Amino acid sequence: LKLAGLKSERSSIDINGVTLGGKEVILIGGPCAVESSIQMSQAAETVRKAGGKILRGGVFKPRTSPYSFQGLGREGLNYLVQAASEQGLLCVTEVIDAPSLEVVIDEIDIIQIGARNMQNFELLKLAGKIKKPVILKRGLSATIEEWLLAAEYILSAGNPNVILCERGIRTYEPSTRNTLDLSAVGVAKELSHLPVIVDPSHAAGRRDLISSLSKAAIASGADGLLIEMHPNPAEAVSDGPQSLHPEEFAQLAGELGIVANAV
Ligand code: PEP
Ligand code: MN
Repeated sequence: LKLAGLKSERSSIDINGVTLGGKEVILIGGPCAVESSIQMSQAAETVRKAGGKILRGGVFKPRTSPYSFQGLGREGLNYLVQAASEQGLLCVTEVIDAPSLEVVIDEIDIIQIGARNMQNFELLKLAGKIKKPVILKRGLSATIEEWLLAAEYILSAGNPNVILCERGIRTYEPSTRNTLDLSAVGVAKELSHLPVIVDPSHAAGRRDLISSLSKAAIASGADGLLIEMHPNPAEAVSDGPQSLHPEEFAQLAGELGIVANAV
């Protein structure tokens, strides 16, 4: 495996004072999809109070079914960016193609390339032409090597700021939505210098497992966690069953020893 991402020293990525791949475990939280201004301001407040540093929320949603909610697009982006800035958080959202990248690039701190687009090589090359950090999720059925080679598309096109995200892979086990592959954290860190974070939410597909998987992810060496949380999961337009309630999110952050800055 020939990787430019291979080197002895670990990379850390500094994003306006938040360091991914440093000493601190970085907590990223927020709903699956941006739904409204009030939803995002409530989510942002919960993230900030829990010591989270980055607010997430999808505005371009790559849904399995074309009949499912596809995201609020530009309008949703405004809600996300506004809520994050009110709470002094960074923000991340997913891009799915060139036009969506164009819409978000000047507004967002971090872009996400989702599992379904991990091998969208043209999108990866575009992500390599920007300077903003990119969270690259592992594909649904991607080997670690394929995932690292996808990262290479971004790195080799000129963007060194790639964060790998393990989010569960498809196996024969139906009890969870996907199977969280925690050994991928150590393997990816051994083969590359990039920060590695873990998304237990899309792996488990159910909120009762998020706490234990998060702790296991940190024990496995993860540099951060990406966790879905919704002010009212029962009403969420997507991924409600795996979204933590705000109190659960706060409790988990406390158990992980994540401390909020006094504001
Ligand atoms: C997401 O994080 O919103 C998402 C769609 O995740 P994944 O690409 O891992 O399925
Ligand atoms: Mn989701």
